[in-house]
Amino acid sequence: LFVKLFVRQIGELDRNLMSTMLVKHALILVTMDDHRREIPDGGLFIRDGFIEQVGPTDELPGEADEVLDLSGHILLPGLINTHHHFYQTLTRAVPAAQDANLFNWLKTLYPIWGRMKPEDIRISTRTALAELALSGCTTASDHLYIYPNGARLDDEIHAAAEVGLRLHASRGSMSLGESKGGLPPDAVVEDETFILKDSQRLIEQYHDPSPGATVQVVLAPCSPFSVTPELMRQSAALAREYGVHLHTHLAETQDEEEFCVQKFGYRPVAYMELLNWVGQDVWFAHSVYVNETEIKLYAGTGCGVAHCPSSNMRLASGIMPLVEMLQAGVKVGLGVDGSASNDGSHMLGEARQALLASRVRAGMLGASRSGESAPPILTARQALEVATRGSAAVLGRSDLGALAPGKCADFFAINLNRLEFSGALHDPVAAMVFCAPVQADTTVVGGKFVVKAGELVTLDLPRQVEAHNRAARRLVMEL
Ligand code: ZN
Repeated sequence: LFVKLFVRQIGELDRNLMSTMLVKHALILVTMDDHRREIPDGGLFIRDGFIEQVGPTDELPGEADEVLDLSGHILLPGLINTHHHFYQTLTRAVPAAQDANLFNWLKTLYPIWGRMKPEDIRISTRTALAELALSGCTTASDHLYIYPNGARLDDEIHAAAEVGLRLHASRGSMSLGESKGGLPPDAVVEDETFILKDSQRLIEQYHDPSPGATVQVVLAPCSPFSVTPELMRQSAALAREYGVHLHTHLAETQDEEEFCVQKFGYRPVAYMELLNWVGQDVWFAHSVYVNETEIKLYAGTGCGVAHCPSSNMRLASGIMPLVEMLQAGVKVGLGVDGSASNDGSHMLGEARQALLASRVRAGMLGASRSGESAPPILTARQALEVATRGSAAVLGRSDLGALAPGKCADFFAINLNRLEFSGALHDPVAAMVFCAPVQADTTVVGGKFVVKAGELVTLDLPRQVEAHNRAARRLVMEL
């Protein structure tokens, strides 16, 4: 508790030193506020990391301690990533796992991941967050569920603080090894008593429920095929005792559905209901294989979903019924998923994939429903909404996801005068999703620059890439 208080005091001291920032003359400011306003010549007035005013530049105060002129830029709320496995940036495009489905992909990679050391967690966290920041992301949730050779979630939390993005650190876990009928080898699973003790320690040490929090802790047993029902129940009870969120992979593939039906006698969503794993404080990654009744259950109970279209396509898992979920009122956010199944952490790119995947799905459904009106598709603005407001709702963050008074000063900006957007400036907002994904010129988190003039300011990127490649080589070649 003392450590936590101390960390918070340092945080407050830091904020008090910051004072005001004026952001002005954005060609277009996308607020994602309750009225979805898009403001020409827009700007923000920021005090101590929070937005005080939003509007046309001529209605904002004329001065501030720091002034950022965004002439010729589009200004958007920071994108929020709701599902990732940072450590997998070390195992992108591994030859033996390039063309495998989920279960075979996992079985190929588990032993490689089992060789990671604490330093590998720190290196991969920096890389993933650097990539995210450069793609307009300001908050990321990460799901770390493998802790070999003394690695801890603390390694990730400390490395994330260096980069400067907000982190929802999920204390993942695996306890159902091969010998008990699970998928992972016994060597990479943990003891359940220890998992719960460590989860409690992490919540007490790092979880900050206050507005503007930089770190929140989430409890996240990995998946139905790698943990026991008992650990799921105990994790839920512990999370509710402390008021932290719950997260897991669910209904990702047909293999998983068959596993649940055979081993537990339930479809994945019914299994979650049985374990008390539904509610406002729960979100699931994927949910590709959910039926109409299950979508209604998500909407009715407040369960959120992290939509990871690239990963679902990469592993040939399928396409999530995104539009159906939005129409039913399900909270849906966007996730890039782990970098061994994407294999990149580009949030704008992922918004584009969500849009395109929804249209492939609509085309397939439309073809099988001849005579009826065409199924609905996702628009560019809806894709951006899922990546901002939608993701914030999924993570339970009412202080994020929109540029509005009282919200955190988390945003990114892109210079529109570039090759990729040439000929698309009739609608710069839609161009963000339709055109080829580009990197952010500016990314600001809580009023502080993480990316400035297109460069990451918190890390020496060439050195980071070199260290990351060295670590990846050692893991994958060390056989
Ligand atoms: Zn995942």
